Amino acid sequence: MTNDQRGVTIWFTGLSGAGKTTIRMAVEQVLRAQGNKVEVLDGDIVRQNLTHGLGFSKEDRDENIRRIGFVAHLLSRNGVIVLVSAISPYRQIRDEVRQRIGDFVEVYVNAPLAVCEQRDVKGLYKKARAGEIKQFTGIDDPYEPPLNPEIECKTDEETLEESVAKVLGRLEQLGYIPASVATNL
Ligand code: ADP
Repeated sequence: MTNDQRGVTIWFTGLSGAGKTTIRMAVEQVLRAQGNKVEVLDGDIVRQNLTHGLGFSKEDRDENIRRIGFVAHLLSRNGVIVLVSAISPYRQIRDEVRQRIGDFVEVYVNAPLAVCEQRDVKGLYKKARAGEIKQFTGIDDPYEPPLNPEIECKTDEETLEESVAKVLGRLEQLGYIPASVATNL
């Protein structure tokens, strides 16, 4: 059996509550429906196993991303489309992972802090403002936006469908998925 699917790592970065998981899940659904081999590395889940025990210092955050990148590389070089959603606040380590993987598509999921805080999907901003959580990205820890992402989704201005179409359209343009996947939405 031949497998001519080109693997790629699609890396969703952005503040907590920006929409990484929501867009990732919708993209995943379309890619799976089209018969692609897909794997997911979700930051919250990874921190419960692969990177269990790591904290939120810059060193630990970088180590978290390095390990996710390592696994993503193994998978994507074997023809899997890997969807990573992780805050991944530091530019340098994202770029390091990009260099290592090669087939790497960065999606900047961008919503203003105020919007993310208003959404407060997991109630974490409230806790961070109350000082119950330290080193919370956007509150008392930095987020360094990508300078040149392949895709930017402004989730306070566009619908989920528009964001998903952007991601799929770019994957199509880059030759990772056939044209029909994006246009059959
Ligand atoms: P993250 O994974 O980045 O922490 P989530 O996906 O868990 O963020 O939460 C994002 C929230 O924003 C969800 O409640 C989602 O319904 C909402 N949202 C509103 N508009 C959009 C959009 N255009 N794209 C993605 N999410 C959106």
